[in-house]
Amino acid sequence: MVLHCTDTRWYLVLITNLVCFFRIVRILGSVLKILCPCQQKIETVFGILCRTTAMSQEPYQPYIWDRHEILPREEIRALQFVRLRDCIRRCLAVPFYRKKFDELGISPDSIHSVDDITQLPFTTKADFRDNYPLGFLAVPRERIVRYHGSTGTTGKPTIVAYTQEDLDLWAGLCARFLVSGGLQSHHTVQVAFGYGLFTGGFGLHYGIERVGAAVIPAASGNTKRQLMLLQDMQADALVCTPSYALNIADAIHHEGIDRSRLALKLAFLGSEPWTEAMRETLEKSLDIKGSNNYGLSEVIGPGVSGECPERSGMHIQEDHFIVECLNPDTLEPVPEGQPGELVISSISREAMPILRYRTRDIASLHSGKCPCGRSTIRMSRIIGRSDDLLILRGVNVFPSQIEEALLTIEGAAPHYQIVVDRPKILDEIRVRVEISPELFSDKMTDMTNLKHKIEHAIQQMTGLHMQIELLPPQSLERFEGKAKRVIDNRKLVD
Ligand SMILES: [Zn+2]
Repeated sequence: MVLHCTDTRWYLVLITNLVCFFRIVRILGSVLKILCPCQQKIETVFGILCRTTAMSQEPYQPYIWDRHEILPREEIRALQFVRLRDCIRRCLAVPFYRKKFDELGISPDSIHSVDDITQLPFTTKADFRDNYPLGFLAVPRERIVRYHGSTGTTGKPTIVAYTQEDLDLWAGLCARFLVSGGLQSHHTVQVAFGYGLFTGGFGLHYGIERVGAAVIPAASGNTKRQLMLLQDMQADALVCTPSYALNIADAIHHEGIDRSRLALKLAFLGSEPWTEAMRETLEKSLDIKGSNNYGLSEVIGPGVSGECPERSGMHIQEDHFIVECLNPDTLEPVPEGQPGELVISSISREAMPILRYRTRDIASLHSGKCPCGRSTIRMSRIIGRSDDLLILRGVNVFPSQIEEALLTIEGAAPHYQIVVDRPKILDEIRVRVEISPELFSDKMTDMTNLKHKIEHAIQQMTGLHMQIELLPPQSLERFEGKAKRVIDNRKLVD
């Protein structure tokens, strides 16, 4: 009994000492950063240490993979500052940035806080194209262990490179949003994303393995085989684009597969903009919990942000990315909560550190502590791309708004196409909508009523009158990757 008491006290003393030790190390690190003349080396070592701690193998808490997700705000900002300066130093090895820094008179020492990021140059897709294939490489080529590329369908892809440390970091970032969305180590996940240059398949694949769950690398396409594997392998979770999840849901219905023969509980959906209404449809038809995540190859791939169980936006992994939300025309910050273009600095990557990448993705940012415990800023789902923004008769419309309107109407299946023409002066907009088999009717009056309902819903959402064309079930083309929703014939007419 006496021995037991002594042991307990000894453990308490040990724990208290350890806590004190780590506090002192943290304070010392901060003081040294400010005072020491060898600031650069300390920052680099500190940066590497911080990057390494992101490679933990066990969840920090249920639904939280890494302690960096719940750091106090001031510690996140301090970490961002250290990593930003370290990143600028690494960017000096990239001729593109060296030239820009010279033009703007910037050195790592001219950055005194994270807010000074506004002094730094932007990076665009065109810059990647101009420096194709490896102009943005910041390390010797022999240190690269993997290449990926953008999914661009025209011209040459954007090539991105990774060191082993980058790949470790990336797997950890994906593990964060997977755990946040409910993935556990005993689960099996079917990845129906494309593998190859596209970052989605490999990013999620290694993230799932990092969590300790099992991967079925089914890759995209061949829906019949996807259904067979889902039944035979009893996958708990599915990874794909939202539009492909819809295809799978349709196919399950079409093939008459009994839902009880599937073990699916979760879906991790991303790589294209989708709506809340689409989530409701998918969750109902597949009987799953679907969570959203975001990323793009230019800044690492998937893993920039992901949803928590609160579904109050996607938590940005701020210890590795600094995200700004800017007006795409003026490049000035938009007020919090307002939609703007996301501009992302990828501050931890070794092979290709990227400053202020203009994503063209439109979303809003939201601060404030989330009930899940994470302290990081959240971003809304992507409401569109500044490139995809349709200016119809002078009104700004994102295809996602039309989708949102369609999904409020029962019977209007979420398969649609927007066709824009300009026969004379005015734009003519036609929305081709597939009708669900249950509602498809030979009765003219039923179809006319449905058409009016859809017209009204779209007008309410966008303020524009659009012609509606109702189509029989399964008549529109299906996509295995990103869906092509808009056919804009105006350019041909002009
Ligand atoms: Zn949260």
